Order: sequence, then structure tokens, then C-alpha cells
Amino acid sequence: MQMVLGLIGNLGWPELVILLVLFGVPVLLVIGVVAVFMVKKKSRQKEATCGGCGYIVEGISSLLCPECGGDLRKVGIVKGRE
Ligand SMILES: [Zn+2]
Repeated sequence: MQMVLGLIGNLGWPELVILLVLFGVPVLLVIGVVAVFMVKKKSRQKEATCGGCGYIVEGISSLLCPECGGDLRKVGIVKGRE
């Protein structure tokens, strides 16, 4: 830790800004991707999914799952949680 502090102490402001951008941008990107993933996962749970593979079957007219081909009357439809 002291080494890191010493390293930062030796740097001027332009180097600090570059370091902040270099480390800050990937961190923000990761946070953004995780946030988008969490929102998608949340909305996905509200939809009806195939009991066999979890594919969203809401709105399809067929009784066969388009993903795994399972008969939805047999494998069942999992209703999403609120
Ligand atoms: Zn399926």
C-alpha cells in the first residue's frame, strides 16, 4: 500500500487524471453492464417461460416451445414472479 501511495505521490496531475480514466472507465463499463444485466433478468422473471428450458413463451401461438421443442402442456409453463 505504501508503494502505491508513494507512486501516486510522485505523479503529477496529468498522470493522475490518466490513471483515473484508465481505471475509472472499465469500472464504469462493468457497473453499466451489470446494471443492464440485472434489469434484463428482473423483467425476464415476470414473463411466462417454458418449464423445460426457461425460454420465454409468452405471446407464442404454438403449444410447442420454439427453443427446446417441448410440449408446453407436458413440460408446463412457469409463470414469472412479480
Ligand atoms: Zn423449452
